[in-house]
Amino acid sequence: MLILDGNKLSTIIRKEISDKVRTFCKTDIRPPHLAAVLIGENPASQAYVRNKIKACEEVGFASTLIKKPESTTEEEVIKIINKLNLDKEIDGFIVQLPLPRHIDEMKVNLAINPEKDVDGFHPNNFGRMALGIPAFHPATPSGIMMLLDRYKINTDGKNCVVLGRSNIVGTPISILMSKKTTPGNATVTIAHSRTSNLKEICANADIIIAALGIPNFVKSDMVKNNAVIIDVGINKIDDHDSSKKYRLVGDVDFENVKHKVSAITPVPGGVGPMTITALLDNTWKAYSKTIK
Ligand code: NAD
Repeated sequence: MLILDGNKLSTIIRKEISDKVRTFCKTDIRPPHLAAVLIGENPASQAYVRNKIKACEEVGFASTLIKKPESTTEEEVIKIINKLNLDKEIDGFIVQLPLPRHIDEMKVNLAINPEKDVDGFHPNNFGRMALGIPAFHPATPSGIMMLLDRYKINTDGKNCVVLGRSNIVGTPISILMSKKTTPGNATVTIAHSRTSNLKEICANADIIIAALGIPNFVKSDMVKNNAVIIDVGINKIDDHDSSKKYRLVGDVDFENVKHKVSAITPVPGGVGPMTITALLDNTWKAYSKTIK
């Protein structure tokens, strides 16, 4: 059984990005610059943004954090976005989700200049991705594709079951896995909360990509021998033995599933770090204007 180590692979890819920055920015050319907009005090969002900013520093990118209180209005957020859209020093930016309830996420998303949309959530990028033309791909699916690619996991002609149909993970990864690409070329089934006979569907899968947000949902008896398991879930569960009183687990019952499979991502240390690496990669692409 192979552990698909997102930490190890991220270190390698981030080193490649930092080498490119060092080579390209030898003279007085400014480095790539990512901005992050954080509204409110959600602790998980604060941690995610902190990790993104830290990753920027590691690879030599400039970064800007725009932090505003929970009470910020939709109009104010759109103003911030308009300013970032016009700022020539900023190559790409993200608006950390979820936003407070009084702010319409889709309106915010639509306000972002697609050429700076390094999260790949704008319909321009999403549509381009679906059509298979150059685009920013959402970071988590893009990180999964990098992981499959670098670990040389054969996806061609395989049955791939995606658990979850969210706009940020399930739907885009199902599109990417079905494209005529490598990795890709898979026969994809998208399962969701209304899917019946899920156990049978999963038992037939060569590849399972679990993105439900339900701790340890995928059990050993749902998994075929030698399947490849990509666990996207990040769930906090109580752990009284830990100093933090909680620990993170995925959507897959890792301890019982790992003996049966050919490859599996751990949680933490699998898809999570790859998501940030994919965001850095998108920012590099925005900077080097490779996107047409
Ligand atoms: P979401 O809540 O938006 O979507 C969950 C999906 O699961 C829905 O489409 C729903 O239909 C489906 N679902 C729910 N119950 C189901 C069931 N019993 N059977 C089949 N499908 C079911 O979640 P999301 O934003 O896609 O995130 C999913 C998980 O991935 C969460 O744990 C989240 O924290 C994690 N996540 C991790 C990363 C990362 O970088 N590793 C990034 C994004 C999300």
